[in-house]
Amino acid sequence: MPITETAPAGTRCLLALGGNLGRSERLFEWAIQRLESQSVRVVSVSRNFETRAVGEQAGGGFLNAAAVVETQDTALQLLELLQSLEADSGRERVIRWGPRTLDLDLLLFGSLVQWQPRLMLPHPALWHRRFVLSSAVEVAGGMLHPLLGQTVEQLWQRLSEPQLSVTVECAEDVANDGRFAGFLSRPLQLGAVQFLRRVAAASEQSDQHVFARVLLRAATAQNPPWSYPLQYPGLRTIELFVQGPEQALEQLRQTATAITG
Ligand code: ATP
Ligand code: CA
Ligand code: CA
Repeated sequence: MPITETAPAGTRCLLALGGNLGRSERLFEWAIQRLESQSVRVVSVSRNFETRAVGEQAGGGFLNAAAVVETQDTALQLLELLQSLEADSGRERVIRWGPRTLDLDLLLFGSLVQWQPRLMLPHPALWHRRFVLSSAVEVAGGMLHPLLGQTVEQLWQRLSEPQLSVTVECAEDVANDGRFAGFLSRPLQLGAVQFLRRVAAASEQSDQHVFARVLLRAATAQNPPWSYPLQYPGLRTIELFVQGPEQALEQLRQTATAITG
């Protein structure tokens, strides 16, 4: 029997680390050490980036980093490991720092594509979040987004355009809701992002020149505000579940902040 000297590398994955500024630096180091002591080989870790918080409840500035790892585990096993680290860090520090001090997201698991609330791959917001791509591009510029067919480097380049057009469409339930009558009747510019109201859905083909397409739907018990849709929304589509025009505007603001900030 030939002896295999090195185990097969396993699946190459991209992770995002996030948390509140300051304490997170040590927590990131701790998380990477814990990963290495488990079934995960850490290939590279980015620098830490200070980023602007998205949303009013998010608190102050955030720290973000990315890591490339390899594992023989399944994607779900890796997610469970990440969540156990989040839980451990939260348990140790829950009183002083709150439970959201460490956020570990699985951005890419090789070329695996799946859309299940428990685990969505690639991570649904990877392609439009500056605070994620800025660190990811340091360690994983050549990794491919299996749905968009672009590398992390190319996704990062897309964000650098001085002007980013995002079309906004209303699903029928929102379009028929009188409260939305005047909503976005004029173009809305938020930083470098220009939101353009569009009545009819165009094909993905004709969306090539726009950065993204936002689809507004009425929130339901199954699709509460701020949740990801239960069905894959389509390439470069950000589906937002909203309770009214004010909340829709707030979700667009946060989308713009994620893209630019
Ligand atoms: P976002 O995912 O938009 O960054 P978040 O990180 O704040 O939001 P959490 O509260 O940390 O969201 O996680 C909510 C749930 O998302 C988790 O319970 C997890 O099962 C699920 N989830 C789905 N896909 C992924 C993924 N690719 N990585 C991490 N968690 C995921
Ligand atoms: Ca996250
Ligand atoms: Ca998370």
